[in-house]
Amino acid sequence: MVRVGIIELQGDFLEHEQILRELGVETVRIKGPNDLRSVDALVIPGGESTVIGRLMVRSGLIDAVRELSRGGMPIMGTCAGAILLAKKVTDRVVGETNQPTLALMDITVVRNYFGRQRDSFIARVRIEDVGEVEAAFIRAPAIVGAEGDARITGFIEHPRVGKVGVSATQRNMIALTFHPEITGDTKVYKYFINLVRK
Ligand code: GLN
Repeated sequence: MVRVGIIELQGDFLEHEQILRELGVETVRIKGPNDLRSVDALVIPGGESTVIGRLMVRSGLIDAVRELSRGGMPIMGTCAGAILLAKKVTDRVVGETNQPTLALMDITVVRNYFGRQRDSFIARVRIEDVGEVEAAFIRAPAIVGAEGDARITGFIEHPRVGKVGVSATQRNMIALTFHPEITGDTKVYKYFINLVRK
C-alpha cells in the first residue's frame, strides 16, 4: 500500500488526509524528520508559507525533505506548499519576502498574486497530464517563471490579472497554487499517487 506523508505543522492537512484516505492511501502525519521514515511520497499543504517554513526549519524538516527529494521521492505542494517548493519567492505587494523555503523547484512564485481573501475564487483549470480540475484559489500565489527542467503545466485566464501559471512540475515534484482538497477534485491526487507506483 502507498503511504503518503502530509506535513502537519500548520494549514489544511486534514482535508488532504481525508481525500487520500478515501482513495485508499495510508497517510502519515509529519511533524519532524523521524516521521518521514516510512513514507513513499509527501504532501505540503496550504496555509501560511512563512509559518510552515519557519516551523520546518525549526523541526529539521527542511534538510530532511530536501534529502528525500534528491532521492526522487514524489512531493506535491499546494498553495503555501507550492511557495515552499519554489527557489524564488516574492510578494505582489511587499516584494522580497526572504522567507525560508525548500528551494527545490526552479520556479518563480509570486505570493498573493490575485489579491486578498475576498478575491478568492473557484475556477476550472486544465493541467497537462492530469486533465481539467476544479480549483479553489485562496490568497493564492501564481507561478510566473520556470527554468531548467521545471515546466508550467497549467494556466488560468483571470479577468483582472490576465493569463498566469497555476501549476508546475519538475522531475518528482508538483506545485499547485490552488487547493484541490477544498473542491475535493481527486484527479491530481490520482496522478500524484501514480508517481509513487512508477
Ligand atoms: N497567501 C498564503 C501564503 O503566502 C498562501 C495561501 C494559502 O495557502 N491558501 O503563504
